[in-house]
Amino acid sequence: MELMFLGTGASEGWPGAFCQCSCCENARALGGKNIRTRTSLQIDGQYKFDLPPDTYHHVITHHLDLADIRHLFITHCHQDHFYWLELAMRGEPFAHRRNQEALHVYGDQWVKETADWEALADAGVVFHEMEAGGSCQAGEARLFAFKANHFERKGALIYVFQKDGISLLYGHDSGFFPEGVWAQLSQFRLDAAVLECTHGEEDVWDNHMGIPAVIKTRERMLESGIASKDTLFVATHFSHNGGLLHHELEERLNPHGVLIAYDGMRLEVPKRS
Ligand SMILES: [Zn+2]
Ligand SMILES: [Zn+2]
Ligand SMILES: [Zn+2]
Repeated sequence: MELMFLGTGASEGWPGAFCQCSCCENARALGGKNIRTRTSLQIDGQYKFDLPPDTYHHVITHHLDLADIRHLFITHCHQDHFYWLELAMRGEPFAHRRNQEALHVYGDQWVKETADWEALADAGVVFHEMEAGGSCQAGEARLFAFKANHFERKGALIYVFQKDGISLLYGHDSGFFPEGVWAQLSQFRLDAAVLECTHGEEDVWDNHMGIPAVIKTRERMLESGIASKDTLFVATHFSHNGGLLHHELEERLNPHGVLIAYDGMRLEVPKRS
């Protein structure tokens, strides 16, 4: 299973469009892996998590062909994860696609309420509503949804994505997982876990995570058998307010077995032996 991290920043990006803090100034000066657009992950060229406002930038920077994406999984309706108007660009006269296959989009009731799905039907977009605790087939993949610790007023989902015998947790946006979710996750043996580390070094456990919560999440997964020493752990969705540049995040988290994602990072997830 090939993962491609298209964006790895929180909602304002890093540097933030209007921000003059020292972390953003440092990122502007250093460039490279310190430049983080809004978060999205592509899998095997056909599956994608979230549709941030930087999607067009991702297409031209990473030479993507979004017409090849068949299944789009939306975690929640915050605009850094679901800039739904971009989907209208899939229809005529904005796009002339050789294939006329549908794009299947999956999300919760709030995602459903955010977009005009009737208008998007003209672009071949089909919506599938997901509930926490539910699952569905998505092409050759199986998708399981769980309640995130995020956006209390509405809601957010985290997902387990299974394909070719490989299981991946897409675990953000979320603070430390609710107890009920830990129980539901215990049926899985993960090959990879994508977690968030929005708050960097800060000791944040609710709504988003900081480094201590990421480390604890990995430890608990190892203790409970949800993960093993071979499971790949990757942190993403970083905010400038977390205060740590890419190399500083690596210094803090690599010794705990967690990789730091950057825009454009490709990762092969091998099947557990
Ligand atoms: Zn976010
Ligand atoms: Zn800043
Ligand atoms: Zn969010």
